[in-house]
Amino acid sequence: MNLDWREAIDESDSECDDDGRHAVKPKAQRFYEYLKENADEGYDACGMSETTFTIEEFKFESNGGLPNPRSKNDRKQRLEDICQSIEFNKRKKMELYAVMGQELANMKYSYVKNKCEKCNQGASIYEVINHATCTKRNNIEKFFDKATSITGYTKDYINYFIHISNMCELYPKLLYASVSVDEMKRHRSYVEECMKEEADFWKVAS
Ligand SMILES: [Zn+2]
Repeated sequence: MNLDWREAIDESDSECDDDGRHAVKPKAQRFYEYLKENADEGYDACGMSETTFTIEEFKFESNGGLPNPRSKNDRKQRLEDICQSIEFNKRKKMELYAVMGQELANMKYSYVKNKCEKCNQGASIYEVINHATCTKRNNIEKFFDKATSITGYTKDYINYFIHISNMCELYPKLLYASVSVDEMKRHRSYVEECMKEEADFWKVAS
């Protein structure tokens, strides 16, 4: 935590802390404003013309936090396809990262075989895979090794993509934004605090 606000400015794009909106964070703030604008534009464009998103191959489908029934091989294939699409797609929508995160969440879930009582009783997929007791019990490092070998992303990013997919379940308008995922990750705590506060904006009217 920075006690000196000048330091807070200098480190505005460094590791995020918990002081959220009270700190002076011009870069994070600017990024958040851009993210909002971008999500809005993407959302409007999507409704107006189909042709804007011709390269879109993967659609994020909310499964209400329940695991999807895809087989191991299907999941691996799909992950590889998504990674390829990310590589070739210049204008990357958050949606691509969200579908990847969703597959990774499902894969991680499949590694948590021995669940605690609470996780066994209808906890969401995200609750289960984030429950430290359960992940420790199930040697979850194996999952990260596997996920890294398929996607080429580090554990840190794998966790972040899973997190993005969860965020998109909660705030679907995020799916329509095309911003740098690195920047998004850098300003993570600030952005999420703002999204929570402006939840109405991020929830798409259906
Ligand atoms: Zn548990």
